[in-house]
Amino acid sequence: MSTRMLYPELGREYPVAVRAKGSYVYDAEGKSYLDGCSGAIVVNIGHGVPEIAEAIRAQVEKITFVTRLQFTNPQAERLAAELTALAPGDLGHVFFTNSGSEAIEAAMRLAFQYWQETGRPERTVMISRDGSYHGATLGAIGLSGHPNRRHTVRAVLPAWPRAAAANCYSCPFGLTRSTCGLDCARSIEDAILAAGPERVAAVVIEPVVGASGGAVPPPPGYLREVAAICRRHDVLLIADEVITGLGRTGHWFGCDEEGIVPDLLVLGKGLSAGYAPLGAVLLRDRVHDAIGAGSGQFSLGHTYAANPLSAAVGLAVLRYVREHDLPARARELGPRLAAGLRRVLRARGIQADVRGRGLLLAVDFSRPGEEPGITAAEVVRAARDAGLLLYPAGVTPVPQAVMVAPPLTITVAELDRLVDLFATALDTVRPRVA
Ligand code: PLP
Repeated sequence: MSTRMLYPELGREYPVAVRAKGSYVYDAEGKSYLDGCSGAIVVNIGHGVPEIAEAIRAQVEKITFVTRLQFTNPQAERLAAELTALAPGDLGHVFFTNSGSEAIEAAMRLAFQYWQETGRPERTVMISRDGSYHGATLGAIGLSGHPNRRHTVRAVLPAWPRAAAANCYSCPFGLTRSTCGLDCARSIEDAILAAGPERVAAVVIEPVVGASGGAVPPPPGYLREVAAICRRHDVLLIADEVITGLGRTGHWFGCDEEGIVPDLLVLGKGLSAGYAPLGAVLLRDRVHDAIGAGSGQFSLGHTYAANPLSAAVGLAVLRYVREHDLPARARELGPRLAAGLRRVLRARGIQADVRGRGLLLAVDFSRPGEEPGITAAEVVRAARDAGLLLYPAGVTPVPQAVMVAPPLTITVAELDRLVDLFATALDTVRPRVA
């Protein structure tokens, strides 16, 4: 279908999605696709869940919009209460947004304001990591170490320092598991010291890197070490849990893996599981109370922020995730999926790294120091032709990893079919890699 809208590849014909149910998406030609990546790692509870449809209908009949300048509303209040009850530590306050990028922007603004309110306005430097992705808006992309997505706006972005990625498959320090001394965590401390701790506002990390790196968990102890470094230099820690939050990695939050409590925790994607635009920032008491005791104002407001309809969706999604214990399901099914992917790769003699946590997995075809054997685009295309949706990952000019992150509700039979379809896709591209 020709389109008047801008899509990633101008001039390309995209299939037209008309319907989706459970783990499947259907196009206008009637072709079905097993959703192996939950859209953009969003649809954690699967498509077309009747309970969410009912919650939306009921809410539309009650009230859909009020401005935060005039009212609060029970749905947003309840969602805030439930999120803060679930979150670790004293992450006791919430600011709602409409997307992950907006939530990252809000987290940055909160961090800057925290330092202004506490008499240290010169703390304006944000430290993030190579290969990270924190969103598409100018502030969020300014924070991201994703060269491909930065390049058209590079000239106007702040020159903030970046620390090394925490990537054991392609360790920036050339270390292995047995020689790892968490140099990647220490590179965050080096960046803080180089900038001058008195100028640093916050460090931003994803507990498991999402599509920018291809489901990259940090080495054990990394999250704890980074939290300790931030504490040592009195720097705020922002956890970008847009992908990892709310069950995807087998925990409610990615930070739970090592029991750390960031100062600001950012949510998106799985918060509404694709049923409405919704993001959120959770704040520790320290940040909230400094603003409360200072100016008493946080004047960032997106028109649709905290609207009752999106909040009702968030509540219904949260109820569904809790009732079906989807974090446990991600924990249980992840190893089965990873084993299946490894099995079909091994059977074809294809070298690739299968990694991740819970149902946030990726297959990385790159070989450090060697020429690319296969591109993510080839695999994604072949998979789509076979009826499987995958998502390209990685920050190299030609991405060489694919995300495999199906809905957390995927059945075991569908999971096994996913592996079979992946094998079919590999057989199409195999002549290039064998
Ligand atoms: N942070 C991470 C880790 C993401 O993966 C994304 C989106 O892919 C974002 C932030 C931005 O979220 P959104 O696309 O909803 O603005």
